[in-house]
Amino acid sequence: MTEIARINEIMDCLPSGVNLLAVSKGHSPQSIRNLANHGQLDFGESRLQEAIPKKNNLKDLDQLRWHFVGKLQKNKVRGVIKAFDFIHSVDSVSLLERISRISQEENKVLSIFIQVKFKEDPSKGGFLKQDLLNNWSKIISLKNIHLTGLMAIPPITLDLNQRKDLFCECRNLANHLGLKDCSMGMSDDWKEAIEEGATWIRLGSLLFGNLRLN
Ligand SMILES: *Cc1c(COP(=O)(O)O)cnc(C)c1O
Repeated sequence: MTEIARINEIMDCLPSGVNLLAVSKGHSPQSIRNLANHGQLDFGESRLQEAIPKKNNLKDLDQLRWHFVGKLQKNKVRGVIKAFDFIHSVDSVSLLERISRISQEENKVLSIFIQVKFKEDPSKGGFLKQDLLNNWSKIISLKNIHLTGLMAIPPITLDLNQRKDLFCECRNLANHLGLKDCSMGMSDDWKEAIEEGATWIRLGSLLFGNLRLN
């Protein structure tokens, strides 16, 4: 099946209010172009070094919106602010403060998702819920940050029912904080995430296939 056939099938299942982020890491500019020609505008990348040449290759498509979904290193913050419109993976107050400061210098405002860890998972970053609540007043006072929502990645060891519980916890916390968006759900659990209130699903392999360039 081509990317186009796959995306048509997925779009048919998306309720209104749920946005599709096509996570294009490891895939070619041409695959991105194919989807863009089909109307898909939101693309996700997890490495700045990979994203920059791809964006250059796609310069003519100036309506694309770029979402950073990877682990964000301190020394990459300026580059990400310059090249991206959204960050899904902000996992500490110090990182938020740095994004705020550099965004002011660059005269930019990105849409920011805060990554939350609802279960212990040494392989993943994210705020613990209590840490987020404790720091909330400081976080919302930061300038040049458009806080749009929460992001969660369930540990791969969870079965689908446990993932649903985690997605539900994420939705409840976002509601409690007055945040509209939840970025949750990937290729193998996006339907469950939508049932629990995702507003952004992040699909890679389901859209592009499993074969990566690198
Ligand atoms: C790679 C990636 C995805 C897409 O994963 P698939 O399982 O291929 O759909 C989604 N979110 C993040 C943060 C990723 O790094």
